[in-house]
This record gives sequence, C-alpha cells and structure tokens, in this order.
Amino acid sequence: MKIFEAVKNNPELVSAFFDASGAMIAAVTDENYIILGCNDNLTRSLHAPEKPLGRYLGDILCPLEEDAFPPLVSEKSGELLPQMLKLCHTEIMFKCYNFSVDGVFLVLGDRMGGTDNEVMETMSLLNNELSGLTRELGKKNRELETAYRKITELSRTDPLTGLANRRYFKERYEEEFALSQRHEFPLSLAMMDLDHFKQVNDTLGHNAGDEVLKVFAWVLGQNCRLEDFPARFGGEEFIIFLPHTAADKALVFGNRIRETLSGMDILENPQWKVTISVGIAQQKIEDTPEGLIKRADEALYAAKRQGRNRCEVK
Ligand code: GH3
Ligand code: MG
Ligand code: MG
Repeated sequence: MKIFEAVKNNPELVSAFFDASGAMIAAVTDENYIILGCNDNLTRSLHAPEKPLGRYLGDILCPLEEDAFPPLVSEKSGELLPQMLKLCHTEIMFKCYNFSVDGVFLVLGDRMGGTDNEVMETMSLLNNELSGLTRELGKKNRELETAYRKITELSRTDPLTGLANRRYFKERYEEEFALSQRHEFPLSLAMMDLDHFKQVNDTLGHNAGDEVLKVFAWVLGQNCRLEDFPARFGGEEFIIFLPHTAADKALVFGNRIRETLSGMDILENPQWKVTISVGIAQQKIEDTPEGLIKRADEALYAAKRQGRNRCEVK
C-alpha cells in the first residue's frame, strides 16, 4: 500500500502534510484513538481555539449511520477502505482513511463538497463581513479627510493671529501675480510693520505685544475685501495683496488701516498709540513676484526713514 509505505518510511512527510494541508484534516492518535497531534485544518473545522489534543477522536468524527467508530484500518485488508464520517454536531462530511503506523493511527479526512445552504451561509457571512469592512473603511476615510483638512489648515495659518502664514501667502500670491500679469489687471502689495514695537514688548511685556498683534490682524481682516489676501509675513510685519487695485487705491487702503489703528485705544495707557508704517508697490509688466515684494519692502523702509506712521509708494 503506497501511501502507507510512504508514511511509514518518511514520518517527516506526515508533519509536512499536517502543517501544509488546508483542504484535509489529519490526526495522529494512540491505539485508543486519543488524539496525539493534528493539523490546523482540523482545529479550524472545530472552531476550537487550540488543537484538540488528548480528546477521543470518536467524539469529533462520527459515523454517518450506525457503523461503529473507529474507521476501518486499511492495513488489515491491504486496501484503501475509506469511510464517510461527519464532524460531530455538524453536516460536514469527510471521506476518511485510517492507517496504522507503528502502534499509532493516522487518520486522514478529505472534505466532501459543502451543501448549497452551507455555501450560501458562508457567502452571506463573507458579504456581511465585507459590508462591515466597507463601512469601517468609509468612516476611516472620512476621519482621514477631516484630519488632512485640519493639518492643511494648520500648516497655512499663523497660530497667534489666525491669518495666513508667510508660506501660504507666497503660494497664493504667486498664483495671483501670474493671473494679473496674464490678464493685465492691476495688482498691488502693501507691506506693513508696527512702529517701535520692541518698546511695547519691553515696556508692557510680551503678552501685551501679542495682544497688539492680534488686534492689528483683526483690524486688517475687517478692512479688506474678500479677494484681498492678508498674511503675517513674520514677527510684527504683515503683508496683503490687493487684486484689481492700482497703487493710488492701495494707498487709500493703507492709510485707512493706519488711521484706524492709531485711532484705537489698544494699550493700557491711552496716550500710547499703536502706529504702522506701510510700503506700497504696484505690479509692473517687467516685475517678478520677488521683485514686487522687494519694492514694497523698500517703500516700507522709506516710510520708516521718513518718520513712521505713514504710507509710501514705490
Ligand atoms: P521699527 O519701528 O523700526 O519697526 O521698530 P521695531 O521696534 O518695531 O522693530 P524691531 O525690529 O527693532 O523689533 C521688532 C520687535 O517685534 C522685536 C520682537 O521681539 C517683536 N516681535 C516679533 N514677533 C513677535 C511676537 O510674536 N510677539 C511679540 N510680543 N513680539 C514679537
Ligand atoms: Mg517694527
Ligand atoms: Mg519689523
């Protein structure tokens, strides 16, 4: 008998079979059919958390009719005599072969095709599992989108003032610059710097300085149009691009911000006024984005040189 010979002469084949087989069940028992070892498929078929070692095989595999367990041992007849056995308490059938090998039994079972009901039940279980997973995935994707939006927003925002930060300003400014240049619309920049701001910090403390920056950002936001784009450019320096706006109109805008701010009582001593200097530049045909920023910066420093609390155009 070839399988028997193979098993007897090559016991390692058995363990290889035990580990690898996904379609068949395999168990080694002692002479009383107490399980000594089995493959994972048997454990899985039983829905057991661990191998059923030490259990009586007859409690696991039952004859279909009144045939007595154990299954026939083929060695005696010299022929392969399969026997149909059921996994007890189920309708799952195995065509089993039993070999006697050196005082132990090796029982191999070949799973017979599942019933239609069983297949439908498995498909329905898998479908349910799949829709559960799809729902879970949808939820995770929505969470991920929210987190991504939040991260994007944080990466674009100055945390103190809530205005756009320098990096995001540059991104938007370069787009607007290209658009204005292509369509020959006027575009102006206003660069604003708080005057003698170091003194505010030195006299009233850093927190008071922070409050001033927040108030200024609020004033800026309140006084610009939807298409204008204000940002904190760094420290106590702010910038805004004004689409469809020529320098003379930008100057009106700059002076309005400046006057609004200097008219407010922001600091604890109303005698102390917060003022800004403003540099304005309008896009020229030969400008680069950096060139326009540079001219607005030069205008700002001209305003500082000329005594602060004023706007200059360059
Ligand atoms: P000028 O009129 O020439 O602009 O003088 P200034 O004192 O405003 O300019 P300077 O560059 O000498 O000092 C800027 C100050 O702004 C120094 C720095 O500590 C302060 N500053 C920058 N960022 C912040 C901030 O986030 N919070 C506070 N409280 N202060 C800041
Ligand atoms: Mg300053
Ligand atoms: Mg400055």
